[in-house]
Amino acid sequence: MEAGIVGLPNVGKSTLFNALTCSVAAQSANYPFCTIEPNEGIVSVPDPRLSRITKYIVPQKIIPAALKLVDIAGIVKGAAEGEGLGNKFLSHIRQVDAIMQVVRCFEDPDVTHVAGNVDPIADIDTIETELVLADMQTLENALPKAQRSARGGDKEAILRVAAIEKCNAHLESEQPLRTLVLPETEALAISSYGLMTAKPILYVANVDETDLEGKHELVDRVREHAAKTGAGVACVCAKLEAEIAELDEEDRAEMLSDVGLEEPSLNVIARETYKTLGLQSFFTAGETEVRAWPVPVGATGPQAAGVIHSDFERGFIRAEIYQVDDLEQYKSEKEIRAAGKLRIEGKAYVMQDGDICHFLFNV
Ligand code: GDP
Repeated sequence: MEAGIVGLPNVGKSTLFNALTCSVAAQSANYPFCTIEPNEGIVSVPDPRLSRITKYIVPQKIIPAALKLVDIAGIVKGAAEGEGLGNKFLSHIRQVDAIMQVVRCFEDPDVTHVAGNVDPIADIDTIETELVLADMQTLENALPKAQRSARGGDKEAILRVAAIEKCNAHLESEQPLRTLVLPETEALAISSYGLMTAKPILYVANVDETDLEGKHELVDRVREHAAKTGAGVACVCAKLEAEIAELDEEDRAEMLSDVGLEEPSLNVIARETYKTLGLQSFFTAGETEVRAWPVPVGATGPQAAGVIHSDFERGFIRAEIYQVDDLEQYKSEKEIRAAGKLRIEGKAYVMQDGDICHFLFNV
């Protein structure tokens, strides 16, 4: 799963991208996808449940869940018309699972705003307009073929045409496809188009150092807008977070308490991005490692096992599952088992957030 970070120039994208990805750069050998391009980074998703687990199961290694973050530079007005950089920008967005848009809410006379004044809603609209236009183009290109097949009686194509017509009407009213509810069969019929305004989006309001909670009227406007368009919102002061990320643990704790934060806002952003992607975590816990794994909400036991290894999914027999609360109550897996609290779940089991699992499988 990957998220793409976008935004107009000078809103604090690179500052945030570097802060989010630098703190895990050193550990990235832990991650399977660690051949990282310059514009890609790994963000670990801090999870307080890991330290609750490792109080009772002491491992050699603790591995939090991680996300891939891609810095998608180069949004310009007219991107949808397919000029140079614009084209590349759009093709990057088509590939990500979710979008993180940084919007500038900080006032700083030393940092120029491309449009002359700080207006996060105008920034959001600039990018959204390009994405709406690009989606309309995609649908326009796809329609004739779908219509031809529909006339020939192809059931899938009939659904596709119906979906395209609904999407077009929605986009023409300048609404992102995120807010359009289609019957599942129609949504599936157009799922291969990579429609960009249908992707989940998180607005990251880059706020002033003096407004870490985002009380400024500009941030309220971002929240209002997000509520209308099905987006998430998180606040951060990218500049401050970049400074915090570079400190060692002791200085970091001191700085956080000085500015009145319980934890770096980067942690909150990582978790919000995870949520935006529709992910939750399950854990595996043993003496070698305790690890959090990302899995889509609603995934079954075999699908979760497949996140670890595709063989585990194919050969899935059953899962033995308990929760962090059980561990805190019984202190060890052995005692959980003895108390009859270790659940045995089969192939149809729908994973719950925070499940600690052993998978049994055939090879
Ligand atoms: P990008 O073009 O969106 O990648 O923006 P940058 O991350 O390069 O930031 C542009 C300028 O804004 C740099 O000079 C940053 O130091 C500054 N900047 C970034 N975040 C903040 C912030 O939260 N507050 C203030 N005052 N300046 C910031």
